[in-house]
Amino acid sequence: MIPSKPKTEIRLKGIGVSPGISVGPAERVGKALEEPEHLIIERYEVETERERLNEAIVATREQILALQEEISSAEGENDSAIFDAHLLILEDSSILNEVLRIVETQRKSVDWAYYSVSKRYIDSLRKIADPYLRERAVDIEDVAKRLLRNLRRGAGDEGDDGMRPSQPGTSILLAHDLTPSDTVGLDRTRIRGFATELGSPTSHTAIMARSLSIPAVVALHEMPEDFPAGDIVLVDGYHGLVIINPSPATIAEYETLIEHERTVLTDLEPLRHQDTRTADGRKITLSANIEFIEELDGIISLGAEGVGLYRTEFFYLSRPELRDEENQTANYRKVAEATHPHGVIVRTLDIGGDKLLPELFEDPEPNPFLGWRGIRLSLDQPEEFRLQLRAILRASAFGKIRLMFPFLSTLEELRGAKAQLESAKDELRGAGIAFDEKIEVGAMIEIPSAVLIADHLAKEVDFFSIGSNDLIQYTTAVDRVNDRVAHLYQPAHPAVIAMIRETVEAAHRHGIWCGICGEVASDLTLAPVWVGLGVDELSVGASQLLRMRRALSRLDSATCRNLTESLRAYGSSDQVKEASLLIAKEAYPELLL
Ligand code: PEP
Ligand code: MG
Repeated sequence: MIPSKPKTEIRLKGIGVSPGISVGPAERVGKALEEPEHLIIERYEVETERERLNEAIVATREQILALQEEISSAEGENDSAIFDAHLLILEDSSILNEVLRIVETQRKSVDWAYYSVSKRYIDSLRKIADPYLRERAVDIEDVAKRLLRNLRRGAGDEGDDGMRPSQPGTSILLAHDLTPSDTVGLDRTRIRGFATELGSPTSHTAIMARSLSIPAVVALHEMPEDFPAGDIVLVDGYHGLVIINPSPATIAEYETLIEHERTVLTDLEPLRHQDTRTADGRKITLSANIEFIEELDGIISLGAEGVGLYRTEFFYLSRPELRDEENQTANYRKVAEATHPHGVIVRTLDIGGDKLLPELFEDPEPNPFLGWRGIRLSLDQPEEFRLQLRAILRASAFGKIRLMFPFLSTLEELRGAKAQLESAKDELRGAGIAFDEKIEVGAMIEIPSAVLIADHLAKEVDFFSIGSNDLIQYTTAVDRVNDRVAHLYQPAHPAVIAMIRETVEAAHRHGIWCGICGEVASDLTLAPVWVGLGVDELSVGASQLLRMRRALSRLDSATCRNLTESLRAYGSSDQVKEASLLIAKEAYPELLL
């Protein structure tokens, strides 16, 4: 029974990054990086400060290695790999040289010098538009907190590190931010959920929450400071909602949902490794999207039929040191081997829009979403492009890889990209390096002009994958990352449905298959529309895999085709949603939360 409290209910809206509902007593963890006392030292103390720093580095390194070992045995090497980055930051010579320079020339204590150098890096990373790079500030903050604590300990201060929750029993963690080591260092048997003021769906913490199946909400912005630990908090990871002191009515409503969710999840378990078919036996491939190889274990254990979209730019942007051909090959090979026998669709870099290279900040574009993005950038940098193509080709010798080009708006771009692919193949042949000679090539359809020339594109590729996130944005002229116009971002807009219909029909006219890899592929209310339009593949978020498999198994193709015929008469998104929901409710009411 969930306890209730007669206090004012506060609802906070953030981004749900890991689905599920949790409720329990609140606990605040993870103190912010605190500014140490601004101490001036004497010249003769410089050497002592240098020794203190060295000792703190040794202690910090030992702690990180111990944590890495602990996580590696509990969760596997993927989760513990985050600490490799921490060790690199700890030993980064530009940070350490700068710290020592401040100690020597400005006579500041090493605590203050380390704090000020780290803080500067953290602040500048937090200003970067790209959410993944912005999150790297968390790693530097994590290392800085640990090192400063060791400096204090070296000076005899054994104070609480604020990193681990202190209350017994299970709880919901609330934090300004949770660093990766906060998250992996937690006793997961007693954590029911977490909520943070900062963070994004691409943060390490969000990724780990998903792989641990802990409901989580990030980007809450304004969490009240003053409510006591132990107050009841509810985390709704489905809707990105955090409710502090939920009223008895809210708790009752959610208790029903939690019970319902439990029953549904138990019921879905046997579907993990089943084939995906509609009620009348039509095969639909159900694959999953990934941004990092750390997500592979999770999707494979859920029975994903391969990876339908590997967004390679995340790996590329986050690990600049691994951009060379060997490392890229090794990365793609891992995905291909792990997804055997289904394989992976590797999308070439889709940099641009909101995913920017740091060097692009020097010369910002007025409209990055309409600018130098995706295939445009790759075609303008043929050497870099061929390097990625060679890496993908080389990896294709070790497993099933399909290749896909993003952001195509013209036929010439597709031809240009394929010409680069042929050159990359020639280069490998010349060097005697093996690859899959029959590698399939697909076009991402995510720009209206590509839809309108789909018949031409279809003649020159092996498959289409609809990038609905962008297709909605460009069809309706609604910036996908702008909160102010979010109500106009309508996946069920009749114009969007018409674009998708046209794309699927063009693919089928030319004997190729067509999938959807944008977020709408995971939308259970619109699944009847995708079946009715004849979509062949859906690449979904891991948490929706089993639900979607069940939903599809209850849908009948003929009923769904009647639905999509009837949609031609509608002019508004609400009408489309309503008509589709009617069928979805009839077929799988228990899945519609
Ligand atoms: C899309 O646009 O739907 C898509 C899958 O690509 P991204 O979200 O990476 O732009
Ligand atoms: Mg896109």
